[in-house]
Amino acid sequence: MRIANLTGRLVLVADELALDVETASGGRFGPDPATVFGAWDEFSAWARSVDVATRPDAVAFAATELGAPSPRPRQVIGIGLNYADHAAESGLPLPEEPVVFTKFPSSVAGPDVDVRLPGGTVDWEAELVVVIGRGGRDIPEDEALDRIAGFTVGQDLSERTVQWQATPAQFSMGKSFENFAPIGPAIVTLDEFADPAALRISATIVGPDRGETRVQDGSTDQLIFGVADLVSRLSRTLELLPGDLVFTGTPPGVGAGREPKRFLDAGETLITRIEGIGAIVQRFYA
Ligand code: ZN
Repeated sequence: MRIANLTGRLVLVADELALDVETASGGRFGPDPATVFGAWDEFSAWARSVDVATRPDAVAFAATELGAPSPRPRQVIGIGLNYADHAAESGLPLPEEPVVFTKFPSSVAGPDVDVRLPGGTVDWEAELVVVIGRGGRDIPEDEALDRIAGFTVGQDLSERTVQWQATPAQFSMGKSFENFAPIGPAIVTLDEFADPAALRISATIVGPDRGETRVQDGSTDQLIFGVADLVSRLSRTLELLPGDLVFTGTPPGVGAGREPKRFLDAGETLITRIEGIGAIVQRFYA
């Protein structure tokens, strides 16, 4: 099952078609994409019975009409250094516990947005994002995948100067500018993947001249702390709430890890893809 936010309304998606959930469910589920996670088990049981492709009321849509599939998460959690190969390029040892920070929720954006560059050292981090369904506290690892709604694509955009400008570092400030947490295009349930623990993930920069440079190309099978482990560990400290986002970390290839360092410029476009989910796009301006 794939769900999305089409012009502010919750939809089921199949191929190029979207089905309005409130209408198709006869009002059983409301139109607000933010509230569906609070009734996730009931919603997903209904949604699995619906075949979008054969519905006469399904409509074609453009990717540019999509908003953030979880538009108002109460918590947005980021995990640092969660790929063995990215920890190596950062010159840092492998963490023994997850490195956790927050992206403040006002940084959340849809899958196709313009982003103002607040400084000259804005960097990309392609990430698999977990969207919490039922959530809870003290979730055992073997129940964790039942407490999530699914996966989406995210960019953990980071202004590196702000991130590192104090001691201790200011991760949450450097990563929370407007539109610095774009997600989408849809939330995909785990049953849609042949192997949800091994998804190809990439980031590509498109220059003003349309030239493309693939800057990240990895697999989520390199996660040090996997999704179920992360959900379980986080829930020992905080209550994971329906619709919350967990940015699970980035594979190697970020700009700050390059020699020479390389950051995003005005006029460039960033495309982030995850196999089986889709792509998100940001255009940068000064
Ligand atoms: Zn990150």
